[in-house]
Parts: sequence; structure tokens; C-alpha cells
Amino acid sequence: MGIIRIDNLNKTYGKDIQALCDISFEVEEGEVFGLVGPDGAGKSTFFNILTTLLLPTSGSAVIMGLDITKDTLEIRQIIGYLPGTFSLYPDLTVEENLIFFATMYKSNIRDNMPLIRPIWKQLAPFKKRRAGKLSGGMKQKLALCCALIHKPKILFLDEPTTGVDPVSRTEFWDILKNIKQQGITVVVSTPYMDEATRCDRIALIQNGHIIKIDTPQQIIAGFKGRLFTIKVADIFGLLRDMKQFPLKSIFYPYGEYLHIAFYDDEATALPLFKEFLQEQQHNYEGLEPISPTIEDCFIELATS
Ligand code: ADP
Repeated sequence: MGIIRIDNLNKTYGKDIQALCDISFEVEEGEVFGLVGPDGAGKSTFFNILTTLLLPTSGSAVIMGLDITKDTLEIRQIIGYLPGTFSLYPDLTVEENLIFFATMYKSNIRDNMPLIRPIWKQLAPFKKRRAGKLSGGMKQKLALCCALIHKPKILFLDEPTTGVDPVSRTEFWDILKNIKQQGITVVVSTPYMDEATRCDRIALIQNGHIIKIDTPQQIIAGFKGRLFTIKVADIFGLLRDMKQFPLKSIFYPYGEYLHIAFYDDEATALPLFKEFLQEQQHNYEGLEPISPTIEDCFIELATS
């Protein structure tokens, strides 16, 4: 049985904003589990419920045998939470923030220093600096130290890399890998699809619905279409014209390219598509098959 078990969880705000719709899954002990989806998908709502800050409208969630609606104090002792918004005291120094969180959990810095040492080493030169004056990446590292200082069994992180520069993002995921190696289960959300591959398993979430749960590798292997990339001068013109393309396909901008997935075999779809491009007078280059990413899988699942 999983370390977290979620059954038919629903959350409605007011009368008609359904932020979570009938969510059920388990998180296994020791894994890095990712909740991946765009803004407004329901990720923060999920985190606030699992960390006992918000009550669900219906359904249940059990963490290590404890019920999120009844055993809130016990749950708070065994979890660490890094919320999406800056959660520290900006007027306290780096060191004072850490002491504050350790004291709040009746823990002490000395006992749990081995767990946070690799991160703390980078923060130590700034320990007398006010937390509010740190860079974005450093703030995240301090927040992570504060969330870990009571040695939780499960660490929840809501979009820890949003707004963080790409180098610090990579570094942050390396830190999470290290935390996992210390035996802590990690539940993390991200709107960045490229980060999904750093998780052991992911749940893709859209409009409050889980549209797929599996390992990133299995999700990619399950892509059904035959995927191509193409560069055209007039992306929006082609997106408009594709409505007349006779075969089943999905197509969407992907950076400066368009991605197109066909659901007929390549020998049928490709010549027809080239003909279509010519008829519609689209200049193109670099039409070639590619392997899908998690983002392609998300779009395929979300549009089917
Ligand atoms: P995410 O973290 O994936 O961006 P959220 O959980 O913040 O998603 O939001 C899910 C949906 O619930 C969105 O439509 C959002 O506008 C709505 N929502 C979130 N919090 C509230 C709230 N306190 N009151 C009303 N609607 C909310």
C-alpha cells in the first residue's frame, strides 16, 4: 500500500469552480512523484488539501495511515511543505528563519544538519542576510532547508522552480534527487513539462482531472500519433488552414516550430500533408519525424 492514498477527492470553490474532480491515486514510499499541469489545473489546491491547510469538498486522503481531515497535527509533524508563494519571514535573517522553523517543530538544527548540509553550505555565507534580500534561487534553497529541518517523512513542494532561472532549476532537481536518496518521499508540482522526466512517476493534471498517471518513460511510450516537426513562415495561417486537412491529426505551436501528429500510417499521411502544404501555398522547411516529449503527450491526452 502507498505512503499516500487518495480516494475520489473533490474540491469545489463556491458554487461552480470545481478545482479537483474525483482524484484517486497512490504515492509509493521513496518515490519522487510529480503533479504536472498548466496554471489553474488544480495543483495548489491539491497541495493545500494534502498538507491539511484546506478541507476537501468530498473524498479522502490518508498519509501513512493518518486522515487529512482528522489527524492534522500528526500529519504536520511528518510532512514538510514548500508552498508556491514565498513562505519565509523576509525581515528575519537566513539563520533566524532556520532557527524559527526548527523551534516551531521542536527540532534542532544540529540534529538534522546532515540532511540539509549540501544546501546549507551554499547559504551559509549569507546567513546574516535578511531572507527578503536573497535572490530567487537562494530563497528557494532556504525555504527548502526550513521545510526539511524537522526531517519529514514526506516533502511536498508546490512549483518550487517557477520563476527560477534554468541553471538553478537543474540544480534544484539535483537537490531533490539527493533528498530522495535520504529516504524522503517527494511530491512535487511543476508547470514545466521538461521537468517531468526528473520524476519517478507523474500525474498529468488538467482542469482538476488527472488525465494520466505513469512513469514518464511509459507515458512517452504510450504516445499514439506519428509525430512530425515543421517550420513554416506563417504558423497561424497553417493552424487555420489545417482545419481543412482531411486526415485525423493534432497540431500546435512548439517554440518556433509546429508539431503535427498523424493517426494514419506515415506512408498515407505524409504525402497527403505535403500535397496539402503545396495547395495551401505554405513555404516550409525541416519537415521530419521526431520523438514525443511529455508536453506532446500532455497535448495528445488533453485533446483526445
Ligand atoms: P494551479 O496551482 O494548478 O495553478 P489552483 O489549485 O491554484 O491551480 O487553481 C485551480 C482552480 O481553482 C483555478 O480555476 C483557480 O482559479 C481556482 N481557485 C483556486 N483557489 C481559489 C479560491 N480560493 N477561490 C476560488 N477559486 C479558486
